[in-house]
Amino acid sequence: MMLLDGKIASAAVKQELEQETRKLLEAGNRAPHLAAILVGNSGASETYVASKVKNCEEIGFRSTLIRFDENVDESILLDSIAALNADPAVDGILVQLPLPKQISEQKIIEAIDPKKDVDGFHPGSVGKLVQGLPTFIPATPFGIMLMLEYFQIETKGKHAVVIGRSNIVGRPMSILLSSNLRRGNCTVTLCHSHTPNLKEICLQADILVAALGRAEFVKSDMVKEGAVVIDVGITRVEDATAKKGFRIKGDVAFAEVSAKASAITPVPGGVGLMTIAGLLKNTLQAYKNNNL
Ligand code: NAP
Repeated sequence: MMLLDGKIASAAVKQELEQETRKLLEAGNRAPHLAAILVGNSGASETYVASKVKNCEEIGFRSTLIRFDENVDESILLDSIAALNADPAVDGILVQLPLPKQISEQKIIEAIDPKKDVDGFHPGSVGKLVQGLPTFIPATPFGIMLMLEYFQIETKGKHAVVIGRSNIVGRPMSILLSSNLRRGNCTVTLCHSHTPNLKEICLQADILVAALGRAEFVKSDMVKEGAVVIDVGITRVEDATAKKGFRIKGDVAFAEVSAKASAITPVPGGVGLMTIAGLLKNTLQAYKNNNL
């Protein structure tokens, strides 16, 4: 069994980005700049944004974190995005999701200039992805593609099963794996909560991507011998014995499934780290598109 270690694969991507950034700076250019907007102070969102900002610093990017109170008006958030759109010193904009109820996520996503849409959630970016045109790929599916590339996982002609059809993970993942790309060309089945025979479908998967958000949902009796298993899930499960009072669990029961899989991502230390690598790569691309 090969452990698809996100620490190793993301370090390789980050090293490349750091070298490119150093060259840009040596040539007299400014550093790529990511602006992140965080609304409220939910523990998980705080952690994700802090990690994105820290990773920017590690590779020489500039980052700006803009915080708003949980009760912020939608119009204030839209004004902030408009200002970032107009700022030539900002290359990428991300708004950490989910947002509080009074704010329409769709409106916010559509307010971001597609040229700075490093999360790849704008309908214009998604349309280009579907048509196989150059665009920003949502960071998590992008990170998974980078991981498949790093570990040289053969995908052509394989049957890939994706569990989950969200706009940020499952659906774009299914599009990428079915596209005519080096790590694509799969036959893809996309499953969701109305899929009646999920276990039978999963058992046919050469590549299984679990992105449903249910801790340890995928058991070994759902996995074919030798399958490649990509676990996207991040669920906080209460555990009084843990320092923080919870443990992070993936969507896959790692101990039993890893005995059957030919390759598998751990949680934590797998897809989450690749998501950041994907975001950083998109930010550098936005910088290049808009400045060079
Ligand atoms: P989401 O928006 O809640 O979507 C979950 C999807 O799973 C939905 O399409 C849902 O079906 C489907 N689903 C739920 N229960 C199911 C079941 N019992 N059987 C089959 N399908 C089921 O979640 P998301 O934003 O895609 O995130 C999924 C997981 O990935 C979460 O744990 C999240 O925290 C994690 N995540 C991790 C990263 C990372 O960097 N590692 C990034 C993003 C998200 P319906 O559409 O029918 O409701």
